[in-house]
Amino acid sequence: MADDLPPLRAVIAAHGLAARKSLGQNFLLDLNLTRRIARAAGADKGGVFYEVGPGPGGLTRALLVEGADKVIAVERDARCLPALAEVAAAWPGRLEIISADALTQDETAILPPQSNGRAHIAANLPYNVGTALLIKWLTSAQWPPFWADATLMFQKEVAQRITAAPGSEHYGRLSVLAGWRTAAKTLFDVNRSAFVPPPSVTSSIVRLEPRTEPLEPCDLDRLEKITAAAFGQRRKMLRQSLKPLGGEALIARAGLDPTARPEDLSVADFAALARALSA
Ligand code: SAM
Repeated sequence: MADDLPPLRAVIAAHGLAARKSLGQNFLLDLNLTRRIARAAGADKGGVFYEVGPGPGGLTRALLVEGADKVIAVERDARCLPALAEVAAAWPGRLEIISADALTQDETAILPPQSNGRAHIAANLPYNVGTALLIKWLTSAQWPPFWADATLMFQKEVAQRITAAPGSEHYGRLSVLAGWRTAAKTLFDVNRSAFVPPPSVTSSIVRLEPRTEPLEPCDLDRLEKITAAAFGQRRKMLRQSLKPLGGEALIARAGLDPTARPEDLSVADFAALARALSA
């Protein structure tokens, strides 16, 4: 099944939606690809979806075509609103567009009652705010968070940082935070030629599923303090980089080797350091 709406190229031309770099606009026009992403997000199983940056509506339409019961989409670029209103009219009662900045949006305030307070996030994120949005969702005070899972497009290099394991050159603060609170994996890469205009690098679709409880108990602020200090000087041994936070005594309380470097530590090791910090 497809929808009866015009092809996205025609929508973009009719509404004068020339992509703006300042808004991280790289549009997906291929319905086969957007439907693949929508299925990866689970839209074929129904449910409530939260989309950031629907733009001209490619992924939004795919979510609806695949079977999402409801899509709540937050778009910052008011130029896109008339095109999105046409999608909403074609799917009565199933698409709600909110004209706002997703970075400051309180998501729990906009989810419909049928969601029971939880939604699936699906988004081709604007590359310039994608990481900030993910950090916002990962550091939510409420846990489990408002999102049941998230299927997100990032630049491949960011996807590698999110999903990296210890020992990898990509392993860092974002990997520890994502690994602590979620199970994260890359589903597939998307070639730059799939976008209009093409970005300079390959992209990847990442799937994150929140853990009910973090991998190891510890305080989020302290965990972030530890990872910021350790990865801030990633070539240094812990006894050096963690000196301002307690150095060797702290590392001993966590039962770790003071000569280790941050990429040698598991997420559980970082949690142990965060707990030792509070001791
Ligand atoms: N979903 C569309 C697609 O896949 O073709 C557009 C994706 S484009 C990479 C990113 C979209 O996010 C743009 O429509 C842009 O206007 C929007 N955007 C950028 N910053 C935003 C923000 N802070 N809040 C909400 N939307 C934003």
